[in-house]
Amino acid sequence: MALTLPTAVMTRNVHPDNQNVLLVDDDPSMRRLLSRWLQEAGYHVRQASDGQEALDEIDLDCPDFLVTDWEMPGMNGLELCRRVRALDLSKYVYILFLTVKSTSAEVIEGLDIGADDYLSKPIIQGELIARMRAGARIIELERWLGVMARTDPLTGLITQRAFFDAFQKEWERTSRSRSSLSCVMLDIDFFKRVNDLHGHPMGDAVLKVIGNVLEDNCRTNDVLCRYGGEEFCAMLPETDEMAAAAWAERVRKLLAETTVSLSGKTLQVTASFGVSQRIEDTQSVEELVDRADQALLCAKQSGRDRVVRFTSLSDTNAVDLAEADQHGIFKGAEARHVMSPMVACLQQDETIGQAAEFFLRSRINSTPVVDGEGILVGILSEKDLMAALVTPECWGRPVREVMKPNVICYEESTPVQTIYEFLCRVSIRRVIIVEEGRPTGTISRGTLLRWFRNLVVSKGLLDSSSTNQSCLEKDPCRSKERLAETADALAQLAAGLKKCLQDDCDDLMPHIVGSATRMQDLVNDLLAFSRFANPGPVTGAEALRAMMLSTGHAD
Ligand code: GH3
Ligand code: MG
Ligand code: MG
Ligand code: MG
Repeated sequence: MALTLPTAVMTRNVHPDNQNVLLVDDDPSMRRLLSRWLQEAGYHVRQASDGQEALDEIDLDCPDFLVTDWEMPGMNGLELCRRVRALDLSKYVYILFLTVKSTSAEVIEGLDIGADDYLSKPIIQGELIARMRAGARIIELERWLGVMARTDPLTGLITQRAFFDAFQKEWERTSRSRSSLSCVMLDIDFFKRVNDLHGHPMGDAVLKVIGNVLEDNCRTNDVLCRYGGEEFCAMLPETDEMAAAAWAERVRKLLAETTVSLSGKTLQVTASFGVSQRIEDTQSVEELVDRADQALLCAKQSGRDRVVRFTSLSDTNAVDLAEADQHGIFKGAEARHVMSPMVACLQQDETIGQAAEFFLRSRINSTPVVDGEGILVGILSEKDLMAALVTPECWGRPVREVMKPNVICYEESTPVQTIYEFLCRVSIRRVIIVEEGRPTGTISRGTLLRWFRNLVVSKGLLDSSSTNQSCLEKDPCRSKERLAETADALAQLAAGLKKCLQDDCDDLMPHIVGSATRMQDLVNDLLAFSRFANPGPVTGAEALRAMMLSTGHAD
């Protein structure tokens, strides 16, 4: 929808057909006469005999024009005018007042209080109608400016300001009825590149198309706006967070499949979504929108083109990073240095039965799912399988039907600190690490804990009050014990794997995956504790070397 300037408004007479006049006068014969003239000119006329009656009528249905007598018993025209201007009305009311004396002091007072025009009695029919026509032009312009301020000219959607007004009303209504209310915020991915590579007109075309797709997928009661730049926000009444996320997921897929064409060039874009629902502790519309925005940030940070629900985040463990990193633990460390390398993934066309078997044998509880090209397309957990397995016919269905498509993933080059911050904030326990879309590893809370522990051990960072460390420093035998235990566990795993290979197990893969994953962790531990393997003091260089090995910094 494009907005065009209504030049006609200034040059042509606005037809009074759909304009309402409230006529206020205490003199019934005057009311009858003026009412007839106005009706003959095409206006819809309602009448009131004093100020209070007029206010009641306005409350019932707001008119376009208020034509009021000046001197009336009770509330006079001046007071009526003051009261009307103090009301928060749905539209601008054009006020024309009628005076007998029309001294300039009276006229100045009337105009100052908010009247638009005046006429002196006795009234001349032609003059009254001409003044009404002039007023109609002002009303039209006023309306048009209102629309302008509330509508984004590019997409035709409402602006952020109008959105908050509508949201506030819905907030109050749904608070009374205690029905659910959700907010979805979305931001186009890498939109700057669209402008940079294809020019601003293409960027604009993308915004219009996305606006249309969103609008087509909203119900009549939903409110959608262009929030700013390349961000859109939708308010979904009678919708909880899960349903809003399902809506967002559907729209996300639609957008990713949509092609934008301009001057022979075509383009596809994706968007990231954050979803929030009003719960008991949500104080305001702004807070609900802010929560969707936080979830959106998380969707961006974790790979884009995905939907993240606010409740999947949790800020209870918010960590002061400056405090946490006073020893420079994170310095230079990237995801690839910390991750447990990916040993195997499920293929999206494998069956649920095969997946269950894989989980049971490898003793893992979730795994990435890839397409034929090896590109990450989802994640499958034990929980997803459990939900599916209750129907026996499910066993033959492909994994892609039950996996979760929104995987939180990070590039191998992502700073560990980013992933640490993420896992501190959210309820998700692990993220997938990718290189060019292909999964190459995972980082779980456990992975990070192990990495921290080993780093601290190998750097000798624990102070003497920390019993474990002082015990290790004073009693290298204990650390040797630890090394021996770890080596033993490794040997057992290796022996089990060897036996399995000798016995020619029918399904080797899960055994290898399960054993190798646990062996990786144990090897990391061995490297971290290796500083205690030498008799005598350990040099800084040696400790550093051990740390580099344990974190993968060394080649
Ligand atoms: P991210 O995936 O992190 O959101 O990356 P991004 O490139 O989308 O985000 P960024 O905030 O860096 O860039 C947003 C761009 O949107 C920059 C701005 O020029 C462009 N933009 C904002 N409004 C308009 C508009 O009305 N028309 C066009 N063509 N571009 C716009
Ligand atoms: Mg009077
Ligand atoms: Mg943005
Ligand atoms: Mg963007």
